[in-house]
Amino acid sequence: MNAYQMKTVFFSSKRYDETYFNTSNEHYAHDIRFVEARLTKDTVSLIDGESAVCAFVNDVLDREVLSLLSESKIKLIALRCAGFNNVDINAANELGIKVVRVPAYSPNAVAEHTVCLMLALNRKIYRAYNRVRDGNFSLDGLLGFDFSGKTLGIVGTGKIGAIVARILCAMGMKVLAYDLMPNQECVDYGVSYVGIEQLFRESNVISLHCPLSPVTQHLIDQTALDKMQNGVMLINTSRGALLDASAVIKGLKSKKIGYLGLDVYEQESELFFEDLSCEIIQDDVFERLLTFPNVLITSHQGFFTEDALKKIADTTLHSIQQFSKGADLSDDVLVVLP
Ligand code: NAD
Repeated sequence: MNAYQMKTVFFSSKRYDETYFNTSNEHYAHDIRFVEARLTKDTVSLIDGESAVCAFVNDVLDREVLSLLSESKIKLIALRCAGFNNVDINAANELGIKVVRVPAYSPNAVAEHTVCLMLALNRKIYRAYNRVRDGNFSLDGLLGFDFSGKTLGIVGTGKIGAIVARILCAMGMKVLAYDLMPNQECVDYGVSYVGIEQLFRESNVISLHCPLSPVTQHLIDQTALDKMQNGVMLINTSRGALLDASAVIKGLKSKKIGYLGLDVYEQESELFFEDLSCEIIQDDVFERLLTFPNVLITSHQGFFTEDALKKIADTTLHSIQQFSKGADLSDDVLVVLP
């Protein structure tokens, strides 16, 4: 190993992680090792002399795990994702562990998946596909609506939300947005910034693109749903805990919510990314969601494009190299306290 190569263990790794990271690592030559286990306090013991950990969205990086990582001489956590809500940044700072992430591997990938959920739900493509294969060519129950002329509300117009806004403006939607920091690029597309209550009241389709934080946790609860239009389409490709799933189930039963598209789920760490097709799912809330004909759930695949996986691998390995050189890490890569 030369001085700039770093011994790194990858938790929650899948075959596709190995493929993309091994290819990118031909350039960096870090000493990397993949384990399938999710990082929790019980799996920290899988660390074997590494000084960096590469983690993903459902790895646990709370104070307890970070203390154990510190005892194992881990100096760097490289998140191979954008969100960092699963990391106790205060604790990492106190323990002297640096945290890096991949701030923008492909906002297009997530934005395009978001629009895909909207269109598939509206035109019931998931039902039509099965029907036609079954020789049922009836259109009953497949009625959709034109997006053009309807109102979209976007909560969070950062990298992903701004692309969703651009695509749907081009499709003729009136786009309202709520963000703590309005984005001039969106205003240029014709987006109008409004208060969150007005957005809830006036939108036919609402899409969430803000990060999960104590402020945004259960942003969509009973009170928020009460303000929305009957039959609203709700899309969440951001983080599961932005929605209160129990309130959402009530909203689906009362028909307040007409369509629900999810790529994330609050308790997804027990389910997503695994093949559980022969198991009995124990999560009754999730199972109830699956019973509605107007709910479409994907298992956190918004990021999952070839372009994004390549960028994730390149950015992560570059950050590890910069850290090992003692070079400055750019502000958008380094995760610091707000
Ligand atoms: P970003 O940081 O570029 O944008 C987030 C925006 O949310 C910012 O403009 C910020 O000002 C705004 N915001 C922050 N707090 C807010 C609040 N309380 N109310 C309204 N707006 C608020 O992030 P991004 O790259 O666009 O990603 C958005 C989210 O998408 C991430 O936080 C992550 O959770 C999620 N994500 C999901 C996938 C997936 O595969 N499904 C992949 C990547 C990211």
